[in-house]
Amino acid sequence: MHLPTLIGVTLLINLLLGAFMLVVFQLRRQVCFRYWAFSCWVFVLAGIFVAARNFIDQPWLTYWLADLLLISAPLLALLGILQFFQKPLLHAARISVAVLLSSAVMLALVIDELRYLTSFASLVIAGCFISGAWLVRYQPSRSNLSLHLLFWVYVAHALVMVGQAVFMLVGITEWFHAAVVSHIILTTATALLFPLLTFVQREDSLARLAHLDDLTQLSNRRAFFTEAPLLLELAYANQDNVSLMMIDLDHFKAINDQHGHAVGDRCLRWVARRLKAELREHDLIGRIGGEEFAVLLGKADHARAQAIGERLCQRIHASPYRHGDTMIALSISIGGVWAGTTARSLQALLADADQALYSAKQAGRNQLVMVTAAEHSEN
Ligand code: GH3
Ligand code: MG
Ligand code: MG
Repeated sequence: MHLPTLIGVTLLINLLLGAFMLVVFQLRRQVCFRYWAFSCWVFVLAGIFVAARNFIDQPWLTYWLADLLLISAPLLALLGILQFFQKPLLHAARISVAVLLSSAVMLALVIDELRYLTSFASLVIAGCFISGAWLVRYQPSRSNLSLHLLFWVYVAHALVMVGQAVFMLVGITEWFHAAVVSHIILTTATALLFPLLTFVQREDSLARLAHLDDLTQLSNRRAFFTEAPLLLELAYANQDNVSLMMIDLDHFKAINDQHGHAVGDRCLRWVARRLKAELREHDLIGRIGGEEFAVLLGKADHARAQAIGERLCQRIHASPYRHGDTMIALSISIGGVWAGTTARSLQALLADADQALYSAKQAGRNQLVMVTAAEHSEN
């Protein structure tokens, strides 16, 4: 493609992307979009000054200022990323200003040697991209595909900028032009990835919210009833042992009556935390009712489920909830069912577990009653 046309098109895209991000910022008030919008526009402005090199002889404008703007664009993008990850900005903003001021001085010193000027600016920009790659790499949510992409775009971009610096110094003009083209394409790709990043993150957190119980942060009823049948099916297909438990807090109404609903809520949260701590990563725990939980235990036969259930009862009983100076004693009753070797529906298992839970309550609470599904007639 004709180079000036390519530059014109990419600048136009960045101009529109900047406008788009500013609109998103207005709608969502997510400050990172404001940084990214300015980053796009600063890049466009830099591009205009660079293009002006062909028409006016003002090196302070078309080289010094243009290169400073080219350095500012990735710095602004980095500040946007920090904002996106909700990291403190002050330190990074100070570093950015220091980078800009020292670059301004360095570029002024080599303004008469355009080779050095461009190489220096390219290396500083490469440094920005390496920082970006490092920043993106060490985020806890980096399984996110757009973060992975951003990491690799940053790495590629850093390499291109180092290449650009070297080609300029050595004087390989064709390769230098190829590096410039890659630079503007990668800048546009990065700008396109930013909104994607936030949309994917937003969708993830909405999906998580839809599946989480607000109070306990365990799976909610809907999530449990969606995931449990799939896990059951998988377990039967692999001939794995699987057990199901219904857990109900004992005399919880009395706790509410005595200490108030808000304290009752905290007790529920406490029990949920204890359950999560005692159970294994692959066990599915759901809050399926007010003070009722269901657990699908993977790789657990009758004996194993029995041991786990008894341990749960003991641990909850042994760890009262501390409310100020008051220790609120808590206990749970559990109805457990080992699914056996014949495939059974979740509903049938739940009915068995419910019956076992009833027996545990009848027998005095704070205990487990464990049954085997095969002992019961299946529908
Ligand atoms: P049992 O040992 O027979 O299970 O007695 P219980 O009092 O726990 O059972 P019951 O079914 O009579 O009462 C359940 C209580 O759980 C009543 C209700 O107010 C309380 N509860 C249900 N959901 C919540 C909740 O989200 N927060 C609080 N604080 N209490 C809840
Ligand atoms: Mg109940
Ligand atoms: Mg209860």
